[in-house]
Amino acid sequence: MQYNPYESAQTQFDNVAEQMGLEPAARELLRQPMKEFHFTIPVKMDDGTVKVFKAYRINHNDARGPAKGGLRFHPEETADTVRALAMWMTWKTAVVNVPLGGGKGGVVCDPRTMSLGEQERLCRGYIRQAYAQIGPNIDVPAPDIMTNAQHMLWMMDEYEVLAGGRYPGVITGKPVGAGGSLGRTEATGFGLVYILKDFLEAENIDIKETTASIQGFGNVGHYAFQMYEELGGTVMCISCFDNNDKKAYTYRKDGGCKFAELVSITDAYGSIDKEKALALGYEALDGDAWLAADVDILLPAAIENQITPAVFGNISSKVKIILEGANGPTTPDCDPLISERGIALIPDFLANSGGVTCSYFEQVQCNMNYFWTLDEVLEKLNQAMSSAFRAVYDLSKERGLYMRDAAYIIAIERVRDTIKLRGWV
Ligand code: NAD
Repeated sequence: MQYNPYESAQTQFDNVAEQMGLEPAARELLRQPMKEFHFTIPVKMDDGTVKVFKAYRINHNDARGPAKGGLRFHPEETADTVRALAMWMTWKTAVVNVPLGGGKGGVVCDPRTMSLGEQERLCRGYIRQAYAQIGPNIDVPAPDIMTNAQHMLWMMDEYEVLAGGRYPGVITGKPVGAGGSLGRTEATGFGLVYILKDFLEAENIDIKETTASIQGFGNVGHYAFQMYEELGGTVMCISCFDNNDKKAYTYRKDGGCKFAELVSITDAYGSIDKEKALALGYEALDGDAWLAADVDILLPAAIENQITPAVFGNISSKVKIILEGANGPTTPDCDPLISERGIALIPDFLANSGGVTCSYFEQVQCNMNYFWTLDEVLEKLNQAMSSAFRAVYDLSKERGLYMRDAAYIIAIERVRDTIKLRGWV
């Protein structure tokens, strides 16, 4: 079965809007993006030919502040994926209570097959085309799948050339020393584990006694693994692409995977060198084997639509927690199965909100032109995530709700209140 992430995002929203008795106008406004920009970017390739790339920037809602959301480079990017991701950003900024809205962007491309010069021309072309759609007070992009701090800096530089001034708040996830915030690179992965720690404490479970299986060893998976290991947890399996044949494998080793060992054989896109992993004593299983591991925690941190009814039966009965690092890793038809089995699901737009929270801190620091220490950033991040988690957890306990629904209720109520106060509905 093929899942469309936009339909998933709308189904999740519709279910909760129904439970809340949300007014029809608010429902209509919030179940779709307010603005969409679809465009093409011609790029001069190194061999002298011109390649035309399809691109998007979509704003779901900016009632609570400028739209905010990542920019993804992916060969299978679609308008519907960007719409879904923009919508989830609105709920993410609302649940963690930062004064921003929801947006997202994407380019249909595979940077792994492009030279750095081609990537730079693509980034600059994106900004030339989308110049009027973005800005520090309009819509602020950030890194996502296969985009990084260097891409963000080329984009900021192009924006500043066009605007004729310095606008570091136009984009976040920039390199430290060039308008970036300390802690931004680590923020999403660390934030996931801050929330996991709070959940485990609330449930009286010692993190040191837990085991996890992770899908994805890119920005999110990498830092989640690092922080989880630092706090004493054991990662039994990690699934990601091999950097030679570009297929996914699950790596496993007796006694658990070791972060430092795996980092030393991973490239900039989060792909592990399979031959080197085998030489280090790892087994390389099928890419989907991470899901069937006998662990306490499943941490999908790669891409959407990975936990579906078709694979749900493979999940071990030992699994107690699904911590969603990726956006939309679970399909809506799988939520009832997870809930029935009594697995605690910590939903994506709460669990992975550390990235956007730190992006917000980056904007604040850029506006002040005064930058905080790493400890200050991480402390503020931990506080913001803990208070978002507590609100969702308490509501779910109080009303006996699935945590995804509790998070949606909090987020939708906040956005609904703002659109009402503004007089939009
Ligand atoms: P990334 O490109 O840095 O890493 C992606 C990782 O997933 C890589 O290790 C890749 O090999 C692996 N992967 C991809 N498809 C796979 C598959 N089918 N099987 C196994 N492994 C696979 O991306 P990222 O920035 O870490 O983002 C991962 C997810 O987290 C995405 O859903 C993204 O939208 C979401 N997210 C990212 C951020 C952020 O700050 N980067 C913030 C919030 C949410």
